[in-house]
This record gives sequence, C-alpha cells and structure tokens, in this order.
Amino acid sequence: MAAPVVRFAPSPTGRLHIGNARPALLNWLYAKAHGGTFILRFDDTDLARSTKEFADAIADDLGWLGIRPDVTVKQSDRFALYDAASDRLRAEGRLYPCYETEDELDRRRKRQAARGLPPIYDRAALKLTDDDKAAFEAEGRKPHWRFLLDHRSVEWNDLVRGASHIDCASLSDPVLIRADGTYLYTLPSVVDDVELGVTDVIRGEDHVTNTAVQIQLFELLGAGAGAVPRFGHHNLLTTASGEGLSKRLGHLSLASLREQGLEPMAVNCLAVLVGSAEAVRPVLSLDALAEIVRLDRLSRAPAKFDEHELTALNARLLHETPYEAVAEKLHALGVGDGEAFWLAVRGNVEKLSQAAEWWTVVSGPVDPVIEDSPFIAKAAVSLPPEPWDQTTWAVWTDAVKAETGAKGRALFMPLRLALTGLAHGPELKALLPLIGRERAVKRLSGTLG
Ligand code: GLU
Repeated sequence: MAAPVVRFAPSPTGRLHIGNARPALLNWLYAKAHGGTFILRFDDTDLARSTKEFADAIADDLGWLGIRPDVTVKQSDRFALYDAASDRLRAEGRLYPCYETEDELDRRRKRQAARGLPPIYDRAALKLTDDDKAAFEAEGRKPHWRFLLDHRSVEWNDLVRGASHIDCASLSDPVLIRADGTYLYTLPSVVDDVELGVTDVIRGEDHVTNTAVQIQLFELLGAGAGAVPRFGHHNLLTTASGEGLSKRLGHLSLASLREQGLEPMAVNCLAVLVGSAEAVRPVLSLDALAEIVRLDRLSRAPAKFDEHELTALNARLLHETPYEAVAEKLHALGVGDGEAFWLAVRGNVEKLSQAAEWWTVVSGPVDPVIEDSPFIAKAAVSLPPEPWDQTTWAVWTDAVKAETGAKGRALFMPLRLALTGLAHGPELKALLPLIGRERAVKRLSGTLG
C-alpha cells in the first residue's frame, strides 16, 4: 500500500471531547501504521462560529494526546478553490439555483408526507425559466445552490463496514451553497481532499450519507478514476446509557480530562479500543496502539463507554508504566524522581498526582500512629544498621518476631502505622529503604518525621 494521506477535520467552534478523539486517533494510528501523512484541517467556513482560540485549543488538545499533525490547513484560507470548483459544477450543469424559502420547503415536505411520499426535494427549481429567476431576483431573493445528483447507486468498499452502497435517488439534491453565499461543509471538504491528495477519509458513521454525495463530487472534481479516496466510517462513542456525546458534556472534554489528571494514553486507549474486537486495556504508547488498532476490527454497534472505566484504566496504565515514561512529570510534581520510588508506589496510584502523597510518606513529615508503645520500642531496637535494601524489611521483621513473638498482621500493621501513619500502602519491603534509618528511628519513637 502506498503511504496514505489522512485528515482530521474538526470545526473550531468548541473544544474536543473524547468522542472527537476517536476519529482523530483512528486517523493518526492508521497513518502511523502505514507510514502515512496526517493533515489537521480546520473546517472553519462558518466564520461566525469559528474562532482562532478554539483552533489553537484543538491543536493543543491533540498535542496532549500525542498527535502532531504533519500539515495544518484551514478552510477559511481556501475559498478561492471552492469558488473555482462551484464554477466548474455550474458549467457542467450540476449546480443549480433554487429560490424556495425554508417555509416553502417545509410546506412542500408536509404535503409530501400527507401523500405518503418521502421528503425528497422535487427539483422544482430545475424547471425555472430565466424570467422566473429574474422575477425572484427582482423580489430581492438570492438563490441557494443545489448539487444535481446522479440518481444511481453509489458503491464503495468501506474500511470499517465492508461493501456499502447508497441509492442516490433516495436523497434530496444537497444544498452546497447557502443564499448568503456561504458554503456548507460538503463541497469544501471534497475540494480539499482532492487538492491535498487525501487517500483515506476516516470519520464517524454519521457521515455515511455524505459519502454517497461526496463520491459523486470526487468523480467530477478529482483527477480521474483513481481520484476517489477510500472511506472508513467508524461507530460513534456514546455514554453508557447510549446518549451521543455532544459538546455540552463538558466533563468529557479533553481539557477537562487533562485537568482531572488523567494520562493521555488512558484516554487514547479508551477512545479507540472501546467498541472494537480488542479488549479495552492499557497500552503504553501510540506506537504500540498503532500495531493493535485495525479499522476492520471496529464493531458496527455504537461504542458505549462508561466514564468510570477511564479512572480504572488510568490506574492500570500507571501500574505498568516504566520509570522513564513518568520521570519528567514526577520531577514537575516535586516528587522524588528515583526509579526505586516509582516502582515502589506505582501500584498504589490511580492518578500520577497521588505519587506526591506517597512521596510525603517516604520523605516526611509523617505523623506516626503508635498504639502499643512497648512493642514499637522493641522493634526500634531491632532495626538493622544501614545500608538498607529490599531485604532489610524481612531481616528486621524476623528479628522483631523473634524478640516479641508477634506474627502476621499483629506484627506488620503496628510497624506500618508507625512508619507511615497509614493502614494501607505500598509494600514496606520497598518503602523501608526509601524512608531510611534516620526517619524510621524518629517515627518509631513517635516523633513527627
Ligand atoms: N468537519 C466535519 C465534521 O467535524 C468533518 C467531517 C469529515 O471528516 O469529512 O464532522
């Protein structure tokens, strides 16, 4: 397969949420797996609602996930291309002016419904004479422009859904240009995909109908038969109760997930593994994920996910994360950034920030909890001399056991409470050498340390 060119094409009218991360990642991983190019295209033809702030924030959110586009373009820079394409369609008789108002179209659809007909545009505007058009213009009406569909079945082999087809006779001729001259998404997207050499259009299954229309546009505007890209339509993420994700679910925005202290790889894994034949599981890097994710292994049913899965997955991911992958972040948290510390505590954190709590347990101050002072005093006397390592705990507790006769929980829990002030936590075998003899002595004597 020649190196593919893919694109992710958000409208910069809001922040990305985990549902948008799915197409972004599926495109990115596909490009990675096949040595391809990833284009970030801002679909900002809606100048009123699109902002540079949102575009910057989207690029930033993608960067947080680990997606670094090879090329970034924005549609608002490319209107001349869309104008040229619409002139070409007009010249070929495939773009025609219509003057109906929304109200008129609505009444017509109601009449069709009353007669049991589907609400398909009846192409009345095709019959307008030049005089009719002049009369509308004289009234001050401006035309909107529809694409004259070829009424045939359009077929493609979907990268996700396999053999697919849509009968274009069942569709209304789509409006490509509004009466105020602005473009709907349909045409600019094709013009850009042609011009940027996009080979694979991977997007949500809410675009399946657009694909039939757009394939006809590709055939007209592309450079010959090979000009129609491959298409893949992935299932959409929904909440556990089956609701679609909208921009209103703010707590599932990537910005919010980042603020909640979740790891980007946990978000990545959930965003692409849910609703597929692969188990949702921690995968440590996008490179590794690219080797696992296959478009033809996505399921056809909606990809339901439970946001609580995200916290659990985050924990599982951290439990496997090697020191090098977090060293910098630990340092930024002001946490002892030694490998031994991370390996000791990673099994006890759900979020990386919790490493700071364990760092306090190691480096102090810890308020020791001592219930049986004579027992702890005897234990303190048995502390071996330094140097300490992972064997020290066993040497020490054997000595305390011999001295006091305590064993099991009665032996370990009082020591844990005195050394850490807590009844739970990482293995003491790993913590003890990190705490060190000086602090241990202090804590066993009941002093803050
Ligand atoms: N801006 C469109 C969307 O966000 C892009 C769809 C496409 O990938 O073609 O739905």
